[in-house]
Amino acid sequence: MDWETVIGLETHAQLSTRSKMFSGAATAFGAAPNTQACAFDIALPGVLPVPNKGAVERAIRFGLAVGGEVRRRSVFARKNYFYPDLPKGYQISQFEAPIVQGGALRIVLPDGAEKTVRLTRAHLEEDAGKSLHEDFHGMSGIDLNRAGTPLLEIVSEPDMRSAAEAVAYAKALHALVRWIDICDGNMQEGSFRCDANVSVRPAGSDTLGTRCEIKNLNSFRFLERAIEYEARRQIAICEEGGRIVQETRLYDPDRDETRSMRSKEEAHDYRYFPEPDLPPLEVTDAWLAAVGAALPELPAAKRERYERELALPAHDAITLTASRDTAAYFEEVVSGLAEAEQGGEAQARAKAAANWVAGELAGALNRAGLDIARSPVKARDLARLIARIRDDTISGKIAKEVFDAMWAGEGAADAIIERRGLRQITDTGALEAIIDGIVAANPAQVAEYRSGKEKAFNFFVGQAMKATKGKGNPVQVTEILKRKLAG
Ligand code: ADP
Ligand code: MG
Repeated sequence: MDWETVIGLETHAQLSTRSKMFSGAATAFGAAPNTQACAFDIALPGVLPVPNKGAVERAIRFGLAVGGEVRRRSVFARKNYFYPDLPKGYQISQFEAPIVQGGALRIVLPDGAEKTVRLTRAHLEEDAGKSLHEDFHGMSGIDLNRAGTPLLEIVSEPDMRSAAEAVAYAKALHALVRWIDICDGNMQEGSFRCDANVSVRPAGSDTLGTRCEIKNLNSFRFLERAIEYEARRQIAICEEGGRIVQETRLYDPDRDETRSMRSKEEAHDYRYFPEPDLPPLEVTDAWLAAVGAALPELPAAKRERYERELALPAHDAITLTASRDTAAYFEEVVSGLAEAEQGGEAQARAKAAANWVAGELAGALNRAGLDIARSPVKARDLARLIARIRDDTISGKIAKEVFDAMWAGEGAADAIIERRGLRQITDTGALEAIIDGIVAANPAQVAEYRSGKEKAFNFFVGQAMKATKGKGNPVQVTEILKRKLAG
């Protein structure tokens, strides 16, 4: 039998506010344990929560960015459970009336296929503290610095059908929260973490199978491997005629397997009830409009515009809108190029800029492990280099040498071209003289070419480029060779 895997993700994004969801303590990562936990965070008797406006605003930004409904009146609720890193004995979350309802996210798979994943909801809540096991023997440490950090929990519909789709979704979501500046996306520090709900069913079935939930996956690789392992495990059980037990599991990267952690709790186990210390959260029309007006152009809109206005192919438009920094860099190259050229074809310029940003530059950044915002070659300088290819000062091949020199800090394109004598030879007379010499020196290859062996032509191109140290204008070299070899 063929099996289909079904996946829904719950993602916790820490919101990038300086203070906590309901207290004024700092949220900065990495401070000494318990130095950023105030009376509220450690749940001293009598303390009261005060919602963080910046966190609410970030949730609204998200709701607008995914086209969800931003609820005008949402309700905080207590989710009761016991754990040492939760001193209040409950987490303030949202249950029945979350701030964001619905919405959708467009994802792109590695093979270029696209798909829409529906979102169920996104709600505000507070993070728990951390239990530390490593530095202690026979006991655990409790660090409450993280307790109360604002979280947006984003819940998807069970719309993914493979680990690859789940990863594409998680990456699109990760890119979006950074794009709209609500979460720093730092996965090592736990700012963005996913729980994967996985079930399997016979292919063609339209009822959902029993799911297991794998908690706290904090890298795309672990997410992918955990889902793949879990789907295999469930299929093996089903094929032997067994039943899947609904439960919460943990992924162990060292052994590349998931293990049972606890039986699945149900919503009623948490005895949710409206938080009595907080009134309903109201979002006015004016606030909603102001937050909407301050949103940047979203990646989907930008991508669509690059395809429509600049006539870029989809794969370029997708790469160039991977992050706001990438798009900003690309746009600066395009405008720098327009300035350098004063006129000419805008779409051809955009394509040239796209090729360099998504090609040579992206490769160099990748090799150096650098973010585009830290690129040693600035957008304006790259524009000047591209302008020199487009005005025939240098060939595309030589341009790569110039780019490497720019990357190494040797200065601007023009200075490097002059210093190294890299100008293209476009003097027809000079090129003809060089080519005459080559033709005269290689009678055997000339005969070969004339007898119909087209391949011999490449030999002559190679010789001409060698003789000009790569500086012969390739179009002219080809034209002169064709003429001379025709005999
Ligand atoms: P919880 O896990 O908090 O009990 P939900 O019922 O809301 O809550 O489900 C959470 C996630 O599980 C959602 O992302 C949803 O899409 C996904 N999900 C629900 N049922 C299944 C299933 N049978 N297979 C895979 N994912 C599922
Ligand atoms: Mg869950």
